[in-house]
Amino acid sequence: MSDLLRIDGSQGEGGGQILRTALALSLVTGQPFRLKRIRAGRPKPGLLRQHLTAVEAAARVCGAVASGAELGSEAITFTPGAVRGGDLQCSIGTAGSATLVLQAILPALLLAREPSRVVVEGGTHNAYAPPFEFLACTLLPVLRRLGADVSARLERHGFYPAGGGRLVVDVTPSPTRAPLTLLERGPVTISAQALVSGVALKVAHRELRVVHEQLDVPVTALEPRVVEDSPGPGNALLITLASDTVTEVVTGFGDKRVSAGAVAGAACREARAYLAAGVPVGAHLADQLLVPMVLAAGGTFRTLAPTAHTTTNAGVIEAFLGPRIRLDVHDDGTCLVTVTPRGDRA
Ligand code: ATP
Repeated sequence: MSDLLRIDGSQGEGGGQILRTALALSLVTGQPFRLKRIRAGRPKPGLLRQHLTAVEAAARVCGAVASGAELGSEAITFTPGAVRGGDLQCSIGTAGSATLVLQAILPALLLAREPSRVVVEGGTHNAYAPPFEFLACTLLPVLRRLGADVSARLERHGFYPAGGGRLVVDVTPSPTRAPLTLLERGPVTISAQALVSGVALKVAHRELRVVHEQLDVPVTALEPRVVEDSPGPGNALLITLASDTVTEVVTGFGDKRVSAGAVAGAACREARAYLAAGVPVGAHLADQLLVPMVLAAGGTFRTLAPTAHTTTNAGVIEAFLGPRIRLDVHDDGTCLVTVTPRGDRA
């Protein structure tokens, strides 16, 4: 058995992504690891429900031994077994992000022998996490370009704090691996949806008016939508920026303490930064592509200036596989990312 790899959870960004990336790479490489100082960069460190669910899901996928896997734990040791696809049901039990749990297990399921169906219950539209639409419209289409056969559907919306959402992901492993090249971006078509659940419809109208004014989006491309299936109240503004190469989804998450105008204004700023940079890959997609690309056939993409999530993720990948991610930041602030696949010499 390989020696235990020791990882410091306080490095770089210091959040839950270090754990999920370590789990994903451990499943695929069979490398056991010990992670200390879990989420040391957060006000409440240690495993929250979302992170514990990710550890438990990863352990079930490969019959791993996971010591220290309990709520609040600041260190775990994870010894993986062989990955097996199949049906997996994960219930976070809070509004913790369902899409983030997938970051820990999806890369391995794409490489398993058997197809899988994964059901995750929890938050589907949470601040600081990918909303379901980002998963379905932004991330998965790019994974399909890497050769993956994967699809997702939303069965129930879940907002913070009630949670109770449900998404289903189907994976058919595919032996095809294609390098990804995403260097150019064609013209962008913008549309937006404002979701409200138990929140006045005028909130959705206000948000969409800001999108209309600030991004010059025609009213015919704006949709206020009342969500009927969510166990609790919530609001999310989803701005879709579609080009021939990538569909980016920029999200504003409603919050009782923030006006609809401010929620929409922040999302419009993020959309404008993406549009102005002229790159195909947005900041969130950039950090989320590194693990799938390194496990497929690598490739290159252009993105915005690397975030702390991207540089930290590159560091965790390096701990498992050696230097694989090269970030060349240009004078205009954009970045060329080059990913060397795990089987090749970096
Ligand atoms: P913690 O509770 O430790 O802050 P976490 O486990 O909830 O962390 P992070 O480690 O901060 O999460 O990782 C967040 C992930 O969610 C990153 O991959 C980031 O790109 C992604 N993300 C955050 N906001 C969005 C968004 N609006 N759209 C798409 N992806 C997002």
